[in-house]
Amino acid sequence: MKQSCNKYISPLIILIVFESVAVTLWLTKKNLFYLFNFSYIGLSVSLGILLFIKKYKHARRVVQLLVGLYMLVYLGLICNENMQIEGFWYYLFTGVFEAATIHYAVAKIFGPLIFGRGWCGYACWTAMVLDFLPYKVPLQPRKKIGWIRYITFAASLVFVSALFLAKVGNIERIMFWAFIVGNIAYYGIGIALAFLFKDNRAFCKYVCPITVFLKPMSYFSLMRVKCKKDLCVNCGKCKRVCPMDVDVTDNSRKRKNGTECILCMECVKNCPKNAL
Ligand code: SF4
Ligand code: SF4
Ligand code: SF4
Repeated sequence: MKQSCNKYISPLIILIVFESVAVTLWLTKKNLFYLFNFSYIGLSVSLGILLFIKKYKHARRVVQLLVGLYMLVYLGLICNENMQIEGFWYYLFTGVFEAATIHYAVAKIFGPLIFGRGWCGYACWTAMVLDFLPYKVPLQPRKKIGWIRYITFAASLVFVSALFLAKVGNIERIMFWAFIVGNIAYYGIGIALAFLFKDNRAFCKYVCPITVFLKPMSYFSLMRVKCKKDLCVNCGKCKRVCPMDVDVTDNSRKRKNGTECILCMECVKNCPKNAL
């Protein structure tokens, strides 16, 4: 009985953490939006963990759709909040600590110290679409073109800096259109790369500028999949089902592609010895 109750602790903790952020931001910023926003995300993530505990096959996809669609459609298209990286630069330059900057701070800069690249596995609206493509596990060896992410990162920074330096008017409106055009470009490039490299997550591995934040921060992540060496029989199944080419049997922080882990739990679900 105690054990069956214990397994429900993690969704409860996640809910409490998100609710604490929701209430703190609501009261400090005197804006009801934060209460709604973080409560919704917390409930979605907790529901996903609950479904995972109940062994529902598509638990992660449910969270991805609940959070990803909310961000893309409600925050992006309806509320005109550019949550892409150029939106982050824009709000940072204007000194406004609002939705996009808070979103980056929580999900992509400081949050990964706790939950690694959980954002990439459960919330990103780009990956939400890419994960529907046929190459759930890469069919080709990894390419050495990860440097592209630094170019896209720099391009976003230069783009927004140029708008400010040139004192262009109505940047807010430009940001909205940058969000639309940027998303279309991300989906187009992401889908093309997935088919070219036979890997749904090729965009994440080589192009996504946000990984410039995500990778170094998630190196220190508290939440990690670890291997119980005494149970592992070195069958290699975990590596074969990993979408991100992580060597999860190595418990060191320097494990191969360790900062790519999106906590999708495919390795855990597929380990025949429950060693993960
Ligand atoms: S790497 Fe980028 S595109 Fe991929 S899931 Fe993470 S944030 Fe989204
Ligand atoms: S799937 Fe499990 S048993 Fe097989 S190598 Fe991975 S951790 Fe070890
Ligand atoms: S399969 Fe395991 S190691 Fe690979 S990304 Fe998912 S959780 Fe991380």
